Amino acid sequence: MLGRNHVISSVSGWVLVQPYLTNHQPEPMEAAISLAAVILGSLLPDIDHPDSLLGRRVKFISVPLSYLQGDRSLLPWSEDSHSRGITHSIWALMACWWLFAGQDTVAMALAFGFVAHLVGDALTPAGVRLFWPFNFKIRSPLCFRTGGFIEYLFTTSLATFAAMHWLGVDVFEQLKTVSGLG
Ligand SMILES: [Zn+2]
Repeated sequence: MLGRNHVISSVSGWVLVQPYLTNHQPEPMEAAISLAAVILGSLLPDIDHPDSLLGRRVKFISVPLSYLQGDRSLLPWSEDSHSRGITHSIWALMACWWLFAGQDTVAMALAFGFVAHLVGDALTPAGVRLFWPFNFKIRSPLCFRTGGFIEYLFTTSLATFAAMHWLGVDVFEQLKTVSGLG
């Protein structure tokens, strides 16, 4: 999934589920901080890729990481790749959670963005090696091409639901009605 779509889908997901996760209406400052944490969390896993939204800004981290996981090589004829290594693993997620332990809202928002990123990548054919260094890949049976039409459709739909929810429409109730479950 592309960086911008990771951000849009993670923020949309957060808008939809935040009331259920935190059980209270956040103060404006708390809401702003948690939103920033969701955005950071949604970009963090791709810090291993020098051309990603975050990786471009912190090349001193992304370039060494890409060499370390073998995505780049010193050999001039080799091509760059992106293998989704340790930064897409459950260990990196646990480290983020642990770093902000005690800062409940920030830790939860950051972890939410991180998990949303992993889910987004698991929806693409390359999947995610959640238990890196083991090669076992988590991949949805229904997946879409990174940056393809379905990815944009998925992101736009989620953003639309989030905007409706933000405007006070009970999205889950509406979905139940439309699907005939309500
Ligand atoms: Zn990724």
